[in-house]
Amino acid sequence: MNTFFFFYPHCYLKSTDKEILVYDTLNKRYVYQKKYPLLQSEKKSIQRGYLTVSDKHNDFLNRCLINDLGYYLDFENVVPFMYNRNIEFVTSLDKERKSIGYNLQSYTNSLLRDVTILLNNGKKELTVEECLQMEYPIYNNASIDIDYLLKQLSSFQFLETIILSGELKKSLLCNALEYAQKHNVHVIYRILYDSVVNTTTFELLDKYSNLSIELLVDSLSEIAQIKTIIKDKICVKAIIKTVNDVEKFKGLEDILYLPVFSLKCVNTDVLMQMILSEEEILNSTKTIKDYLLSDYINPAIYGHLTIDYDGSVLCLGNRIASIYETDLASLVNHWIGEDGCIWYETRKKKDMCRDCALQSLCPPISIYEKMGIYKCPCEI
Ligand code: SF4
Repeated sequence: MNTFFFFYPHCYLKSTDKEILVYDTLNKRYVYQKKYPLLQSEKKSIQRGYLTVSDKHNDFLNRCLINDLGYYLDFENVVPFMYNRNIEFVTSLDKERKSIGYNLQSYTNSLLRDVTILLNNGKKELTVEECLQMEYPIYNNASIDIDYLLKQLSSFQFLETIILSGELKKSLLCNALEYAQKHNVHVIYRILYDSVVNTTTFELLDKYSNLSIELLVDSLSEIAQIKTIIKDKICVKAIIKTVNDVEKFKGLEDILYLPVFSLKCVNTDVLMQMILSEEEILNSTKTIKDYLLSDYINPAIYGHLTIDYDGSVLCLGNRIASIYETDLASLVNHWIGEDGCIWYETRKKKDMCRDCALQSLCPPISIYEKMGIYKCPCEI
């Protein structure tokens, strides 16, 4: 007689070289065991959703049973049926490259979903680092060839959103909106509140159904004035540098907070608030599909690129190449085949997180980590 312990299908399972996690994605019950290395064969069986019962695993499996994470099953000769509990890819870059030797642009083009275009910025006060965290242009007055930039996007048929970030002449903004409307693309116009020179910009919201505005406000902004312009399709993002800033925005409803750090003074009270405890990480609210995807991709940045006002293409602040050297479609096609492609940068590829079984429950690698503001979400 053999006995397996089967984990329920809604449980997310992760085993690294040092730890194991069984996490019930519906009820948030879990068994998280540190210093619990498994043999390769045991890791493989975990991937298939079971573990062979043995003295070595008695305590661990009994804890799983008590937490209602699975059940014991006895069998004689025939091994019970096991379905594939991992994500199956019908097609992938790897499969395509193996079969024809390279990736077709028609395929790689389909992966780009959102693009941020960085425009002008007349505010000298913002540092380069602050702009990076806000995905906002640095101080510049360059002439923006918006038509050329939009032409570059025309071969990306699955593009869903263009974020226009920074200052832009109203006539050029209208050109971009016309283009986007024709191609069924949503536009988010991101602008600092005190850089909105012409309030008629807000009237465009009525004319273009595909437009919404993201208003960046800081603690010096006049809250009473902001309240008068908030309406449908205007999202307010409050720049938070200290915890006290949160107080200043208390009168505004439905706002999002955007922590921004100066590299000279990183260890602020805001940063302390952003660091997650183990308990908070284990109180995650994602679906099992989200966890499984996080094993393969960085979900926060997958399908997203930034084009700077000078034509540089960036991902999480890392420069890839310029669209004035190579067209965007070729650039994407080449870049996503590279080992270092940030879209696929998961926590298991990061030294600090490699052995930790909480990888997929943690927030994905962010600009804050890339800039060294914190080492990872659980540690400063
Ligand atoms: S950030 Fe990394 S080390 Fe910290 S809990 Fe998450 S996966 Fe583990």
